[in-house]
Amino acid sequence: MTVNALIEKLVRPEIRALRAYHVPDAIGLIKLDAMENPYPWPEDLREAWLDELRNAEVNRYPDPRSPALQQALRSAMGIPADAALLLGNGSDELIQMLALTIATPGRTVLSFDPGFVMYRMIALFAGLNYVGVPLRADDFGLDQDLVLEAIERERPALVFIAYPNNPTGNLFDTSTIESIIEASPGLVILDEAYAPFTDTSFLPHLGRWPNLLVMRTVSKMGLAGLRLGYVAGPPEWIDEIDKTRLPYNINVLTQASAAFALRHKHVFDIQTQAIRAQRAQLMTALTDLDGIEPYPSDANFILVRTVKRQAGAIFEGLEHRGVLIKRLDGTHPLLADCLRITVGTAEENRALFAALRETLAALPTD
Ligand code: PMP
Repeated sequence: MTVNALIEKLVRPEIRALRAYHVPDAIGLIKLDAMENPYPWPEDLREAWLDELRNAEVNRYPDPRSPALQQALRSAMGIPADAALLLGNGSDELIQMLALTIATPGRTVLSFDPGFVMYRMIALFAGLNYVGVPLRADDFGLDQDLVLEAIERERPALVFIAYPNNPTGNLFDTSTIESIIEASPGLVILDEAYAPFTDTSFLPHLGRWPNLLVMRTVSKMGLAGLRLGYVAGPPEWIDEIDKTRLPYNINVLTQASAAFALRHKHVFDIQTQAIRAQRAQLMTALTDLDGIEPYPSDANFILVRTVKRQAGAIFEGLEHRGVLIKRLDGTHPLLADCLRITVGTAEENRALFAALRETLAALPTD
């Protein structure tokens, strides 16, 4: 039998139909496609970090529960004392653990589309159904009646709510979220990946409902390369989900580096405040630009809609001028003609804006 014939026989058709997660090459480009913090560490912090890493015991397996890092997260992030914590290799891995914990064939994961693609992908990997309830077309808000109907019909074992949402950048209405938590027969995960860029959170509400967990990541505050996410909630839930964790999922260098960084969280707070200020400036500049309509954002990126059928040409025009953003046009009907721009440094945003003006001016008019 050939390799291909074996693959055809053994690999699930839904896996065969996929393409592996693609990350575009950004060499030589200003990278505004992946919601990263653009600021490097100050030199003295980098030195102190390297000093600390000298003691890291990479010959040993990491401590599986990462107690020092858990403590650093608790104090830096204000995790309520009665909530338990579980750490993941990025929040991506936590989404996977959550799905595996409830994975029984025939069960459903529910979220909102357009939304974060990994909810759908991981549901598929775990053999679960995925239902994406469409957001409102005009403002990407939750349509409460539609959502509650879907919950009643689908009885999802797991609901993911990105708060703020990716790729739209908006915060959903709090009372609608509360009604979802109350109506849901399963777990509801508030995914607060973009927490550093907004002032609201469901962390203080932990414990109010037996089915609420709050998930976060250190990626967007400036530690994307370390791969560290955390989920907080009732200890009984965390104990169950913990059983699906691979024994040493947070490596020695990540444990040491993240604990160190969190002890210096003020440095990252200054950076995320700068990103917020840049977001406001970029929003004003984009609003004033003909042919570009930005949507309000509580995250570190801005979704924009272009004039009909220009998204591809604008994406390419920017790439040609050295700026990489994310093309969303073609990924979901509600995102027709849409692009997503990560907020960069002041200098990067100026370069983006100049490239955008040039690109728009060079577009054929018809
Ligand atoms: N949730 C949302 C809403 C996201 O946008 C992302 C990353 N783009 C993640 C989770 C995953 O973050 P990470 O795995 O880096 O923690």
